[in-house]
Amino acid sequence: MKCTSCGTELETAKIKSEFKCPSCGEAMIGRCERCKKLSREYVCPKCGFIGP
Ligand SMILES: [Zn+2]
Ligand SMILES: [Zn+2]
Repeated sequence: MKCTSCGTELETAKIKSEFKCPSCGEAMIGRCERCKKLSREYVCPKCGFIGP
């Protein structure tokens, strides 16, 4: 999968943060270590929810 914030391809072993969208509960949100550290916001690809 790709980092939802920056679009970097994520290897499964490198995924630091992976969770379901809190809004629709369907799309998986993944963020790389860098984006998690910077607390970059993500946009759900399914419902457009923007979260911290
Ligand atoms: Zn990222
Ligand atoms: Zn969603």
